[in-house]
Amino acid sequence: MRFLLALLTSAGAPLAAQQTNAERILSGRDTPSHDYDLIHQTIEVRNFDWDATAFDGRVTTTVVSRRPGLNAVALDMGRRLAVRSVIAAVGRSGGRSARLQFTRPGDSIVVRLAKPAGFRDTVRFTIDYRGKITHGRGLYFFKGEGRPHRPQQIYSGGGTDGNPNWIPTYGAPHDKATWDLVATVPASYTVVSNGRQISDVKGPNRTHTVRWRQERPASTYLISLVVAPFTRVTDKWRDIPLNYYVYPEDAPLARRLFGMTPDLMETYTRLTGVKYPWPQYSQATVTDFVGGMENVGATTLVDWLPDNRAYLDRPWYRRALIPHELAHQWFGNLVTTGNWVNYWLNEGMAEFMAGQYWATKLGRRNEEDYYLEEYRQYLELDGRRRVPLAAYSSNVVYAKGALVLQMLKQYLGADRFWASINRYLTKHSFGNALSDDLRRAVLDATGENLHWFWNQWVYQAGHPELVVSAAYDSAESSLALTLRQVQVDTAQPDSSGLRYSTPLIFRAPLSIRVGTTRGDVRSRVLLDQREQVVRISGLRSAPTMVVIDEDNSLLKTLTFEQPSRWLATQLARDPNLWNRAWVIEQLSRRGSDSVAAAALARAARSADYYRVRAEAALALREFPPAVAEPALQAAARDTSSSVREAAILALGAIGGEKAESLALAAWNRDSSYAVRATALGVVAHLDSAGSKELVRRGLTMPSYRDVIQTAAITAARDVADSAIVEGLAGILGEQRLVALTLAGLARRGDTQALSILVRHRDDKRPWVRRWVLEAIEQELEKGS
Ligand SMILES: [Zn+2]
Repeated sequence: MRFLLALLTSAGAPLAAQQTNAERILSGRDTPSHDYDLIHQTIEVRNFDWDATAFDGRVTTTVVSRRPGLNAVALDMGRRLAVRSVIAAVGRSGGRSARLQFTRPGDSIVVRLAKPAGFRDTVRFTIDYRGKITHGRGLYFFKGEGRPHRPQQIYSGGGTDGNPNWIPTYGAPHDKATWDLVATVPASYTVVSNGRQISDVKGPNRTHTVRWRQERPASTYLISLVVAPFTRVTDKWRDIPLNYYVYPEDAPLARRLFGMTPDLMETYTRLTGVKYPWPQYSQATVTDFVGGMENVGATTLVDWLPDNRAYLDRPWYRRALIPHELAHQWFGNLVTTGNWVNYWLNEGMAEFMAGQYWATKLGRRNEEDYYLEEYRQYLELDGRRRVPLAAYSSNVVYAKGALVLQMLKQYLGADRFWASINRYLTKHSFGNALSDDLRRAVLDATGENLHWFWNQWVYQAGHPELVVSAAYDSAESSLALTLRQVQVDTAQPDSSGLRYSTPLIFRAPLSIRVGTTRGDVRSRVLLDQREQVVRISGLRSAPTMVVIDEDNSLLKTLTFEQPSRWLATQLARDPNLWNRAWVIEQLSRRGSDSVAAAALARAARSADYYRVRAEAALALREFPPAVAEPALQAAARDTSSSVREAAILALGAIGGEKAESLALAAWNRDSSYAVRATALGVVAHLDSAGSKELVRRGLTMPSYRDVIQTAAITAARDVADSAIVEGLAGILGEQRLVALTLAGLARRGDTQALSILVRHRDDKRPWVRRWVLEAIEQELEKGS
């Protein structure tokens, strides 16, 4: 999501050089000053014009002055919104009115009041304007491009800073207000917005006017408008009405997907001890959306509804998207970050909660699975740019946010953790919070002052990079473990003088398990030095495995060279998923080691959790066919599509006749879209001549999110013949990748591909013309 950067009223003073992130956040300087309190807005929109991407707007704003002598009110308002007039309501009843002067500095409007308002005086005025929109800035005007079932529609969706691009409002999150949203649209279109629908009145020229009312205060970045010809599927949780708004063609898919909502609400309510806080919950699907946006009581989601077969591949939509956005109704919407520096309070909590839902539904291993994915995302992001959780534009607010909260839960234990969360939510309901407010909630609920935890995980960046070595002393029956933290602190201030530091020493309790043939020994240590030696005594025989951080309660990287035998034992005995994934990665680099091969083959066939089998199968691609193939052949028949997909990929890397026939069998018979898509790519790679017919058929094969079509288009780059190129021409309007592929082929001398592109520069579908021109330009750039 994007961030609100240039706020009119924010403090513009340059920062003192070398100020650390923690100083800055604790001083609260990132919440902008603000001399009025936004109370209510009535937002009226009408005359939507899809061709001009424009509409007419009229917004009546009520504010209360927070200082004596308030002579102007500044609102955020995109410069493309053309103001016709500003009229003040004068007197309590608003009976008389007066035109007000205004100026438009930047993306704002400053309304000059007729006379200065006193401290606590109420001020009300109406801005009348023509909203000219750049498509995708604040509002999206979708005209029905691409696939036929996606109808013409309009939706708001600029993320956290988008709404001032279509309505004048106060954009920062720390001033909550109520609002009415009144939209006049063609009669066949549904209007979805926040709060409750108050009225729906027929108007002239086959229009209707729908009024929604948000009666409890919320931040204005959560104002939402969706206009589309929807079918509404209704549901209920306790006394809360639930609405799933989908295109008529998607209606048969809606209940299976969104039907998880009541159970999610029940689970979140039980975990947090705070009931779902809004009068109803709507979920509306729209085209070409970035994912989801948790508008208050009315989430907007992309229109990728899985069909029945797609559920075999654990669709992200169900796994992450719906749970994440619903969690925001508590974290972000009920309690909102006080400024964008503390944005992780919104995103980290929402991302964390989805994992907690799966933990309660599917158990411990599934919970670990969820956070393992977050961990991998985090490492990738942290590798690109190292920023603390609490920082402007921090790129780790989702993944690291979720991981830090999971760590906190492991540290406190579930009961104390949820009691702390309950404190946080109840104390700041319908208000705002900063990072330190969450720490105080923990302090209130548990008596634990976690300054050290916040300091290293929230205000500073990075994570411990642990390097471990082991020495066994048989005479002493003890194991000496040297634990070193090798992370570095580059200590470079950024352009604003802000310095993001990485702790050279992270503090954390850690559990170590040493396995022997005569019983295991466990030891708890406090990690609190740059280098420390831990001696584990009482071993009754030599170690057979050494597990550092047994329950993976510390966010870290681990370097620990060990004999393959130890790793193999751990892979067989350690239930923790992160630990096993780490072991698989170690073993995967030992391609000529028979102990490693046997351990991976065993895991690929028979580990108790699908992800372990899948990762072990994939790791076997680095091993000789004689050991890898039998295990992969078994994995290719696994009940989990992820394992089958991994097996086919690994076989593709190994190659040979066996691999080819297994991939072909998967293409022909597998029930999963993902497996078939992968198999198509593998067959095309292994047998470019024999796979042409199969690639051509793949181009038009329907699948969830077009994974098979996309695999076929990708394969076409390498195996294209005349029939395939003709097939590409036939699907030119379905996705952008087709034009790019044709342009790539044309550049390599395919005259048929070139003539197709030339012909379709004048295609009657505007999006096809656009895609073709973009593709030609892009290829020309490569050529020059
Ligand atoms: Zn979110």
